Amino acid sequence: MPTVDLELGRLLGEELGRHDVQVVNDVTVKAIHSEAGGLTVAGEPDFTATADLVLVVVGVRPDTDLAVAAGVQTGVRGALRVDRRMRTNLPDVLAAGDCVETWHRLLQQATYLPLGTTAHKQGRVAGETAVGSDREFAGSLGTQVVKVFELAVARTGLRDPDATDAGLNPLTVGSVQFDHKAYYPGAQQLHIRITGDRPSGQLLGAQLVGDHRAEVAKRIDIPAGALFHHMTVDGLSDLDLSYTPPFGSPWDALQLAAQAWTRQAGRSSAAASPAPGAGP
Ligand SMILES: Cc1cc2nc3c(=O)[nH]c(=O)nc-3n(C[C@H](O)[C@H](O)[C@H](O)COP(=O)(O)OP(=O)(O)OC[C@H]3O[C@@H](n4cnc5c(N)ncnc54)[C@H](O)[C@@H]3O)c2cc1C
Repeated sequence: MPTVDLELGRLLGEELGRHDVQVVNDVTVKAIHSEAGGLTVAGEPDFTATADLVLVVVGVRPDTDLAVAAGVQTGVRGALRVDRRMRTNLPDVLAAGDCVETWHRLLQQATYLPLGTTAHKQGRVAGETAVGSDREFAGSLGTQVVKVFELAVARTGLRDPDATDAGLNPLTVGSVQFDHKAYYPGAQQLHIRITGDRPSGQLLGAQLVGDHRAEVAKRIDIPAGALFHHMTVDGLSDLDLSYTPPFGSPWDALQLAAQAWTRQAGRSSAAASPAPGAGP
C-alpha cells in the first residue's frame, strides 16, 4: 500500500494475515492461465498459485481519448490540463475529476490525485465557471482513508519522499497513542506518523492507522484542516479540540503525536506533553 509508509503498511500486512489472507511481496506476476480446475497464476521468482478469480489492480489512468481527439492538451500522467477554474485549452470546454490534473495545495503545482472528494469540488468549480463565476479550485492535499478488515488507514498531505522531491527538508516522527483515555474501557492504539519541515516547523503531512472504530477517518481531518490553512506542527497542539474520556484525551492523540514531532525536531513547544493515559 504505497500511499502510507512501510511502517504502517506492515500493520496492514499483519491485519490481512489475521484474516487468513496470504500476502506475497516482491513477486512479479508473469502469466495467468485458464485451466480445467480454475486459474493458475505464475510469477517470478518461483511463484505459482491457483485461484477461482483473479483481480488485477494496477492503479488509475485518466480516460481522455475523447477530449484529446478534440484537441485538449494533457499534462501530468496524461491527465487533461486545466487551470484552477477547470478550463481546458479549448474555449468553453471544462473538465473535472479523474480525467484532469489536480492542483496540489501544498506543492502549488499540478499533480494527479483521482479521488471522489476532489472530483466533487472540481465539478462544482467547473459548474460555477460555466455560469460566469470566478471561483478557483482551492487545491487537494490527497486526504484519504480506507478500511481493511478492522483497521482504518488514513493519510493527508506529503510523506517524507514527496517532501524531499519537492526540495523540502522533512522529518517524519512515528508514535503510538491511545484513541481515548486508557482507563476508560475499549481504548485502542493509534499509530500516527507526522511529517513536518525541519527549518520552518510547517506541518507537511500525517498518516494514521488504527481500529476503524477509533475515529481514524475523522481524526485525519484534523491535520487535513491544519494543512489546508498552512499551520505548523506545533500549532496542532493549540487547536481547541473536544474531549471526554470515552472519545479522547485532553491532548488528542494527534496533538500528542505532534508534540512527539516537535521534541524530536528539537523545536521549542508551547505544550508540555504528559505521559499517555495520565491526567483527568
Ligand atoms: C472501487 C473504487 C473505490 C473508490 N473509493 C473512493 C473513496 O472511498 N473515496 C474517494 O474519495 N474516492 C474513491 N474512489 C475514487 C472516486 O470514485 C473517483 O475519484 C470519482 O468517482 C471520479 O469522479 P468522475 O466524475 O471524475 O468520474 P466517474 O465517477 O468515473 O464518472 C465518469 C462517468 O462518465 C461516464 N463516461 C465515460 N465515458 C463516457 C462517454 N464517452 N460518454 C458518456 N459517458 C461517459 C462513465 O460511465 C461514468 O459514469 C474510488 C474509486 C473506485 C474505482
